[in-house]
Amino acid sequence: MSQLIQSIRGFNDLLPPVTAAWQYVEAQVADLLGAYGYSQVRLPLLEKTELFKRSIGEVTDIVEKEMYTFDDRNGDSLTLRPEGTAGCVRAAIQNAAISNAQVQRWWYAGPMFRHERPQKGRYRQFHQIGVEVFGIADVDIDAELILMSARLWRVLGLRDVRLQLNSLGSSEARAAYRDTLVRYFEAHKDLLDEDALRRLHSNPLRILDSKNPAMQAMIEAAPRLLDHLDDESAGEFARLRAILDSAGIEYDVNPRLVRGLDYYAKTVFEWVTDKLGSQGTVCAGGRYDGLIEQLGAKPSPAIGFAIGIERLVELLQEVGAPLPDGAPDAYLLIFGEAARLASHSVAEFIRDRVPGLKLQMHCGGGSPKSQFKRADKSGASWALVLGDDEIAQQSITLKPLRGEGEQRTVLLAEIAAALAA
Ligand code: ATP
Ligand code: MG
Repeated sequence: MSQLIQSIRGFNDLLPPVTAAWQYVEAQVADLLGAYGYSQVRLPLLEKTELFKRSIGEVTDIVEKEMYTFDDRNGDSLTLRPEGTAGCVRAAIQNAAISNAQVQRWWYAGPMFRHERPQKGRYRQFHQIGVEVFGIADVDIDAELILMSARLWRVLGLRDVRLQLNSLGSSEARAAYRDTLVRYFEAHKDLLDEDALRRLHSNPLRILDSKNPAMQAMIEAAPRLLDHLDDESAGEFARLRAILDSAGIEYDVNPRLVRGLDYYAKTVFEWVTDKLGSQGTVCAGGRYDGLIEQLGAKPSPAIGFAIGIERLVELLQEVGAPLPDGAPDAYLLIFGEAARLASHSVAEFIRDRVPGLKLQMHCGGGSPKSQFKRADKSGASWALVLGDDEIAQQSITLKPLRGEGEQRTVLLAEIAAALAA
């Protein structure tokens, strides 16, 4: 026998019943985004490598070591998208969606690809639902994104996520702070690990979110970006905080929150939980006012966030939030030849009469015992039994499969009322 072919490490199959939970979560997010006036975009999974290098930044985890990059047949270097923002900005520019200072509120959903070490909450193909807003400089929109995500957690019944908030300031202020930080780290060079040494001059801010315990005290005492904000960013950050305070949103100001991608400036935020171990960030985002100009278009302010769907679903499972399992509501059992002949018509009749009913029909005959076994296994709440008696009387027998309740036979024409009762 030839060897079985397995999937690629870090690339997961999503199967029932988990897919039902995914559909539910995705539908809740789509409804909510629609209700806030956001429109969906569907963009390519593959882009030119240059797009990610120029937007995410050469000295980032993603571009340095996580991208799936290969040469196309004509020699072009292509990359499977590691995140959604770069493609959205590329599409907005290319399709002139932001050329006249238009405001766009976009969302997307789909797989992202990063060559990371697979572990719980960290995969090589993973899924995000993300939001990007173009054309609004005011922190009104920063607040909208945060309130919108807070509502999503409420809708999903999640109370275990907390908002971490920071401001990275303008890119000029950040550049000045960067020098201060490099001087500080140089003075403590003996404490820096290999990763930090490598980043000391290329991306020193990233050292701030190192998880290395040996460096924590030194990092804790480092000069804080929040104390070096430009006046404009400081004012905006204060106003954002005031809006969140008045809206009753709790948050922690986390001066070490720097985000891993170069394009961020001013507001950055993450929603984190302590219920998922070290992969605790379920949603992350921030402002990237400089990116559109950096990609060659007229400058326009922009902000966005992305939710990691795997982590969100894992968290919902972890805290026991109610999630659908995709089981049918009813399972149709068919006994006898006359019933078997009529069963498809009867099933269609029921589907017409009870819109929305998830009805699974038994196929292929078999003894009552084996059919009831299947019905039970399907997870349905009701067995609908169609025998030759029922056919003769144009009726159907309802038998509850879970919990209390009596079996009864009702006229087929009254099936909707019977199931509702
Ligand atoms: P982390 O610090 O956990 O590596 P990140 O800063 O690289 O996250 P972002 O690029 O901001 O993550 O992506 C937004 C969200 O997407 C994350 O908060 C997380 O929920 C999810 N995510 C990112 N990378 C992965 C992955 N490899 N597997 C599963 N989910 C991921
Ligand atoms: Mg990462």
